[in-house]
Amino acid sequence: MDHSGPISAARALGPFFVTIRRLFHPVALSLVATHLALLALGWWTLRHLVPDTVVLHLFGHVQLVHEVHRRVIDRTLELGALLPAVFLVEYLWVGWRESSVRHLLVERTASGWSDLACYFFQLAPVSTMVAGIMSFGVVYVSGEGLRCLFADATGIDISIAGAPLLLQTAILFLLYTLLDYWSHRLDHSRVFWPLHRFHHAAESFSVLTAARVHPAMFTAVVGAILPGVLLGSDPAALAQTGIVIIIIRLLIHSRIESNFGWVGRWVVQSPLHHRLHHSLNRMPINLALLPIWDRLFGTWRGAPREAMRIGTPAPYRHGAWFVPDLWRDYCEFWTGVKTLAFEGLVGLKQAPHAPPQDLASEADV
Ligand SMILES: [Zn+2]
Ligand SMILES: [Zn+2]
Repeated sequence: MDHSGPISAARALGPFFVTIRRLFHPVALSLVATHLALLALGWWTLRHLVPDTVVLHLFGHVQLVHEVHRRVIDRTLELGALLPAVFLVEYLWVGWRESSVRHLLVERTASGWSDLACYFFQLAPVSTMVAGIMSFGVVYVSGEGLRCLFADATGIDISIAGAPLLLQTAILFLLYTLLDYWSHRLDHSRVFWPLHRFHHAAESFSVLTAARVHPAMFTAVVGAILPGVLLGSDPAALAQTGIVIIIIRLLIHSRIESNFGWVGRWVVQSPLHHRLHHSLNRMPINLALLPIWDRLFGTWRGAPREAMRIGTPAPYRHGAWFVPDLWRDYCEFWTGVKTLAFEGLVGLKQAPHAPPQDLASEADV
């Protein structure tokens, strides 16, 4: 008798049933329910406590901010739901043993502690202040403000605000990912590498590795500011683009060991492609969130099917004790900037960021 039909059907449905079982696991269900309840409570309370129009007194000027509920509170709710949603997707894909939540809270690796510390640091209002001081206020510059200045000065005002929202989001998304590709490429130059190295110092991935960034990331603001400068767009399109970008950033740092098949080759970067970017050989490859930009500029590489070792041989204190190391990186960056004056743009060339001693120690790994 031929059993291949039902047997192969059962094999094909196996992962589906595993996912359903994981979804209905009592711990997973109670965590999701608690989070949603807290989120809903916070949203309801803020909507009732904060008026929809707020009066701000800034440097002697009175500024009215309208639609606070829709623009601030609802947006915060969306962002608050993103991280747990990605945690959930990852858990359904890889199971509890391999999940980021277990990696961060139960295994408590030193690298995971750094991720957690960075995440909580970024939630604290002081992080924007530190980033503002270290970047000389660059993070406060608004693309929309610059666009108005440019339009007033030149009379040229390119605006896509009249286009359908979905089209605006698509244009902004493509432009953001293109600029992000080039700013990331700059991060791997000798001068900017000290500010990016901390992100690469993660020795294992968790969804929160996405939050592990140096507060003085000058290059990151390129993608954040320029789309607003170049294209006047509906704030809703900017918000939607931001959400998609955050989801991709969280996903590519997840513990899902998949190259996403043809999707990872052509549509969006996969966790394994990004892992290859983080691998110890540190070739500047797979820099973009979309493979199309890497393919276009010659930096795309196919990812192996299994995870490889990641990290940087540069010494880093893990856990929450990385502050002196971040300061060292910041000083190293400015030393590099000073040498630019003597070397010209050579310091911005690609991939010279593996000094000989790093390579030597890698050989021992
Ligand atoms: Zn990188
Ligand atoms: Zn990364």
